Amino acid sequence: MEEHIYWKLFLSYAAVLALSIVIMFFVKISLISFTLILVMITAYSTWLSSFFISNIDRLSDAIFEISKGNYRPVIAKTSSEFRRIEEAINDLQERLIGTIGELSASQGKLKAILSSMAEGVMAVDAGGNVILLNRAAGEMLGLIESEVTGRNFVEMIRHPDITSSIRAAFSGGSQEKEIGVSLPQERKLLVHAVPVSGGGVVTVMNDITRLKKLESIRTEFTANVSHELKTPLTSIKASAETLIAGAVNDKENNIDFLNKIMKNSERLSALIDDILQLSSLDEGRTPKDVKPVDAAAIIDRALDTISAKIKQKKIKISVDIGDGPVEVICSEDHLYRVFLNLLDNAVKYNKEGGSVTITGRPYNGQIEFEVADTGIGIDAEHLPRIFERFYTTDKARSRELGGTGLGLSIVKHIVELYGGKAAVSSRINEGSTFTFTLNKA
Ligand code: ADP
Repeated sequence: MEEHIYWKLFLSYAAVLALSIVIMFFVKISLISFTLILVMITAYSTWLSSFFISNIDRLSDAIFEISKGNYRPVIAKTSSEFRRIEEAINDLQERLIGTIGELSASQGKLKAILSSMAEGVMAVDAGGNVILLNRAAGEMLGLIESEVTGRNFVEMIRHPDITSSIRAAFSGGSQEKEIGVSLPQERKLLVHAVPVSGGGVVTVMNDITRLKKLESIRTEFTANVSHELKTPLTSIKASAETLIAGAVNDKENNIDFLNKIMKNSERLSALIDDILQLSSLDEGRTPKDVKPVDAAAIIDRALDTISAKIKQKKIKISVDIGDGPVEVICSEDHLYRVFLNLLDNAVKYNKEGGSVTITGRPYNGQIEFEVADTGIGIDAEHLPRIFERFYTTDKARSRELGGTGLGLSIVKHIVELYGGKAAVSSRINEGSTFTFTLNKA
């Protein structure tokens, strides 16, 4: 309790005493009865004031504790005027606890939503200080929320394009921009900074790195497809034109032109087949007829398809996939495509009289297949890109041998569609070994 209250009490006693002495002189009552009255008045007023002071003290202590966040009910001690104040404090305290509980629950929900979002969210207040940075935004910008909260965004964000977007939003303009960041990782972000009522700015960032990469792969693929289709078409057109112009009657050469047309039509057809296969794999269409497939039967079918080439090149084939049936989870057509592409390459890029070995053995709950040849091999510099679309180590040779440059990318796509992995190891002039895994049935 404040000290000046005691002083006020003391002064009011002194005033009452002085007034009483004055009255005593005027009214002329005996000194004893006057003293008695005075003592009674003083005793009563002392009791009264101490009652008020102790209750005010108790209640102000309780309010002080509430203001510090220590909530406990005020115990009702009185039945008089203080009772209503005590009840009001208790009621206020209960409502305060309820409101704080609701607030912290909704804050918890908001935090959980923000931290589970894939989009990065950052909010700065009117003074430019960071007030919120979710997990995704932290990852994208290489920042930690606890280190940036309360600090100015210009100091914290090391990407000038992002800070200028936020600045522009502060000047009233809503900004959406594609911004490349290099730290902590090379990424492409779609940054949207919007001013909010109250003077701050909220920035939402979408990581579009994968999307951009896919876009560029698609553009590159379309350009490659157009180029690859145009080459045989041009050749077909030129041969046909030459024949029409009179070469059809040239008994010595007309068959060459017709052969050229035939070869290029076959190439066109092979290209279209592979492109269609790739585009259906790209769409992520899982084949309907996925079931346990007997690998031995599929290997036989693929070998049968290329038997003429095998015979022509005098290639020795050996298959070792164990004694019992080897069944994997795949569609028959997809497994056939995988073996056909790998075996066709193993024969195509082999030396005359070379050999091709097909093996299959259990590996980590899967079956690991290997197609090894004793052919020309692949230089180490090409190995990391060998599964890319249209990638060839020698374009002219690949074309000459009827290749499309898409076989290995189809193999990789199919194998990955079933949760497997495709890999290669090779030594130039010694041979190549292609490996892939598929789940055991
Ligand atoms: P292609 O239709 O040209 O054979 P692929 O995608 O099947 O296309 O193969 C890509 C390239 O990888 C080939 O052009 C060739 O240079 C190389 N390659 C594939 N398999 C072998 C192999 N068994 N031996 C040597 N080179 C190979």
